[in-house]
Amino acid sequence: MSDASHLTFDLGKLGGSTGHLFVPKGADCEALSLPVFSLNKGEGPRLLITGGNHGNELEGPIVARRLIEWLPEAQTCGRVIIVPVLNPPAVQAWTRNTPIDGLNLNRVFPGRADGSVTERIADAVSRLLLPMADTVFDLHSFGPVWDFPPAVTTHPIADADLMSKTLQMAEAFKLPLTLVWENDDTLGMFDILVQNQGKVFVCAEFGGGTVGSEALAIYEAGVRNALVALGLVEGKAEYPTFRQKKSSQTLEMLSSDILKSPARGIFEPRCSVLDEVKQGDLIGVLHSIESLSADSIDIRAPTTSTVGAIRSGAHVDAGEEIIYLARPAKSLRMRRVELLLDH
Ligand SMILES: [Zn+2]
Repeated sequence: MSDASHLTFDLGKLGGSTGHLFVPKGADCEALSLPVFSLNKGEGPRLLITGGNHGNELEGPIVARRLIEWLPEAQTCGRVIIVPVLNPPAVQAWTRNTPIDGLNLNRVFPGRADGSVTERIADAVSRLLLPMADTVFDLHSFGPVWDFPPAVTTHPIADADLMSKTLQMAEAFKLPLTLVWENDDTLGMFDILVQNQGKVFVCAEFGGGTVGSEALAIYEAGVRNALVALGLVEGKAEYPTFRQKKSSQTLEMLSSDILKSPARGIFEPRCSVLDEVKQGDLIGVLHSIESLSADSIDIRAPTTSTVGAIRSGAHVDAGEEIIYLARPAKSLRMRRVELLLDH
């Protein structure tokens, strides 16, 4: 077998099959074999689903495994390829970045065949799997130090047609939040590589990153809804229940909506995700751990907005991000959808 990256099986074969994506060894580590599932039912949409891009976001790999269980019964046409774990060394270490080379897989796309292990994984995915798909769902979580609602995120895309298609796909998950996130740190993202090829990329951000059965049920429902919208499976989409509500809203988050801690200390949240807050509302308090006589610092909402994400790991350093606010997606001239189906 070749030493270059390759698939151990024929993805074009009709029906269900499993095999591996072989990532060759390098100076830094041995070769990796990433399990790959393929279900090819002929003509129709071509979808790639990936999980475990970041190693401490483990809902994605679990939801991906559940899909592999029920898809053979449910899928009626098209092709679905699933890679539950893109970055095995990071998942094993429960770290965001690959422990071997310290790199963030989601910042090195399209990767390099002769690079370090993270770059070799990105290269194999870019060259061997991405050409087989027109739509990509990359299943992330917000990470273990944040509270975040089940959400799908995308970034502003210059191509208006692709932006519209992407937003439509994201909203089809019917998760509590669809977030258009202005992010200055997009170089090397899987998203950007896929979108530059004119394909739809949706990033699911499945909550805070600690795994629980209730949250997993919501995420699985979201992916099923998206598969129904794509026409890959039959069924009726439903809004999953999150904190007693069946609702979905599309918001945008600007770089200026991210609040940073003014000092180091213990951060006490005074609001919850999806709360609507008014300008001046107390949304958090920062306590000193060095002195009982030092005043705690009030954190107030700079603008009327919705709470998108809030720190749940308590100790923060000065300048660390603590709250993400979001607002109706007006500046992108997009509609805000708010559906309350249970009244
Ligand atoms: Zn992630």
